[in-house]
Amino acid sequence: MERTLAIIKPDAVEQRLIGRIVARIEEAGFTIRAMRLEHLTKKEAEGFYAVHRERPFFGTLTDFMSSGPCVLMALEAPDAIRKWRALMGATDPAKADAGTLRREFGSSIERNATHGSDALETAAFELGYFFRGMEIR
Ligand code: GDP
Repeated sequence: MERTLAIIKPDAVEQRLIGRIVARIEEAGFTIRAMRLEHLTKKEAEGFYAVHRERPFFGTLTDFMSSGPCVLMALEAPDAIRKWRALMGATDPAKADAGTLRREFGSSIERNATHGSDALETAAFELGYFFRGMEIR
């Protein structure tokens, strides 16, 4: 079994897509081990995306991620990291495959509806950033 951090980003929460995205997660066979609605501060968003701090879009990305509440989740499945990224689709919704969440619900390369950890090490950091051990069942 593997765990990954998933986020329903503020654009998708604002569009009232939480239920549809959670349904897709469950239908795909993930077990939700933790879940919380959270309005990140700018500083919390900056800490989460610290690896991107030199990128030109760091300022707008962290403004966006702190612009409204998002849903934080710990997802569990065999091969969860790869499997969740496949369900999300490519970073840019315009390039994401048909049937993926970002293609369906994202509106731009930045406002792309969902986040998923990209490797085991990143998943460990990201899960630990938002959840204490006892919050993940
Ligand atoms: P991910 O792993 O698919 O989420 O992609 P990255 O780790 O490369 O980027 C993190 C997040 O930054 C993405 O999910 C987007 O919200 C945003 N992002 C990535 N590339 C760009 C870009 O070129 N421009 C802007 N404005 N945002 C971007």
